[in-house]
Amino acid sequence: SSISRHFSSTPANMVPISKETDYLVIGGGSGGLASARMAAGKFGAKAMIIEGSRLGGTCVNVGCVPKKVTFNAAAIAEAIHDAKAYGFSVEEKKPFDFTSFKHKRDAYIKRLNGIYERNLTNDKVEYIHGWAKVVGKNEVEVTADDGTKQTVRAKKILIAVGGNPTPPPANIPGAELGTNSDGFFDIDTLPKKVALIGGGYIAVEFAGMFNALGTETHLFIRHKTFLRTFDPMIQEGVTNEYERLGVHLHKDSVQTRIDKAADGKLTIHYKDAGGEGTLEGVDHLIWAIGRTPATKDLGLDKAGVEVDHKGHVVADDYQNTNVDNIYALGDVCGKAELTPVAIAAGRRLAERLFGPEQFRTAHLNYDNIPSVVFAHPEVGSIGLTEPQAVERFGRENLTVYSTSFTAMYYAMMEQEAKGPTKYKLICAGPEQKVVGLHIMGLGSGEMLQGFGVAMKMGATKKDFDSCVAIHPTSAEELVTLK
Ligand code: FAD
Ligand code: NDP
Repeated sequence: SSISRHFSSTPANMVPISKETDYLVIGGGSGGLASARMAAGKFGAKAMIIEGSRLGGTCVNVGCVPKKVTFNAAAIAEAIHDAKAYGFSVEEKKPFDFTSFKHKRDAYIKRLNGIYERNLTNDKVEYIHGWAKVVGKNEVEVTADDGTKQTVRAKKILIAVGGNPTPPPANIPGAELGTNSDGFFDIDTLPKKVALIGGGYIAVEFAGMFNALGTETHLFIRHKTFLRTFDPMIQEGVTNEYERLGVHLHKDSVQTRIDKAADGKLTIHYKDAGGEGTLEGVDHLIWAIGRTPATKDLGLDKAGVEVDHKGHVVADDYQNTNVDNIYALGDVCGKAELTPVAIAAGRRLAERLFGPEQFRTAHLNYDNIPSVVFAHPEVGSIGLTEPQAVERFGRENLTVYSTSFTAMYYAMMEQEAKGPTKYKLICAGPEQKVVGLHIMGLGSGEMLQGFGVAMKMGATKKDFDSCVAIHPTSAEELVTLK
């Protein structure tokens, strides 16, 4: 064909150009798939997606989806435990068949991978399986699993490569004996004892699930609380709740060495608020200390794409990079690393680039993005934390409403089995516009979405109060705050 006569502009590689496209998307994860499918399926653009691993990306394969399924299993374990208080006689000694659960979960993900591939076919997005490397402003080299290479020429390129778990610090001997969130999903027998290091979403979610499933769970954090980017009410509330639930929290901790014993189990040498310590017999050590963008060997320098000191691609509000035909979105940009954010940014970009005139300024508004931590209990947060609101508006311009109560679910339980529910509403100005909403307690994950809509519409405290309560729920407390 005529295109095979073109050659890559990089003299050193000279891999013939095998294909041309209008929109080449690198990364078949949440953001890339959404953008390519809308460009081709809705607007008829010639689009192509390149994915080196499994379609669906982090969320589907080693993130949100298998995590939430595991969270559901943990919630069922808790419900079985709670059932006694309601008068059920439940045989709790029968162990949970984690191995069967894990295989069933894997099969579900595999089905999803197939569905994603069929969706690409339906929307006429060309899919190439392989690892992409940028070799020029309009050219990307793709290496297949068998090592064969081809070069694709594209009018526009989207960088949607996401990230990977940040490797453990190099100065801790034996740190590599631990695994990370990807490895969590390979565990196929329920461990007796685990240790997690980190204080963000992943460490807190995993620790809560292990603990609920009956594993002895140790969580090492660098400070006195975890979830430190959240409102202080959430940080303190969930940290206290984890201690109450029996998670072994090692506060103000550092790890000094990790060893592997003859039986294959790990020993963690550490210092924490209580002094020096040794934790033996650990089945799995999981590092969950953040994520690193997958830009290291992507060749972005070949096209002159700007990245920051952490390797995140620098993109503006319209997902433009500094190179005019190259765009970036999702985790690789390091801003609100959430699946629906990547999807929304991907769709807005496809609309702007390939949609009709009315979409010329389409872009995602990154304000008021709701997010939930599937902790025990669930945590939901949207808008500003109280310290952020004080900084933005001044303490004198804020009215903060908060409540702490026991959900009716616990009414049948002994005092020591009752978990707390805590809500906070942060309102600014004389009109008391709601600028921050923070909730922890049963059902918070499902509750937040609707309140998110209200905040996007600019709701005030008066609007909240004008909505008649739904009784008996926990959520009704948010429309009756005094
Ligand atoms: P990704 O989904 O990571 O996709 C990038 C894709 O690019 C990958 O498939 C990768 O293989 C591919 N790729 C990378 N480099 C190349 C290359 N050179 N060539 C070809 N392909 C390449 N978010 C939520 O909203 N809710 C949750 O509950 C939630 N839970 C999470 C739990 C865990 C354990 C983790 C790790 C994340 C979780 N997230 C959650 C975050 C969510 O998964 C990410 O924000 C989302 O997947 C980002 O989408 P993306 O398209 O930017 O990148
Ligand atoms: P986060 O960025 O949320 O948290 C990483 C944590 O690791 C920080 O809180 C930091 O805690 C701690 N940390 C960093 N370095 C070290 C170290 N050397 N030793 C000990 N602790 C360290 O990252 P995660 O890996 O938890 O998750 C990545 C992202 O994925 C999240 O930010 C979120 O956007 C997304 N995600 C979303 C979920 C959801 O929506 N439910 C679930 C899971 C992930 P500190 O500073 O307090 O010490």
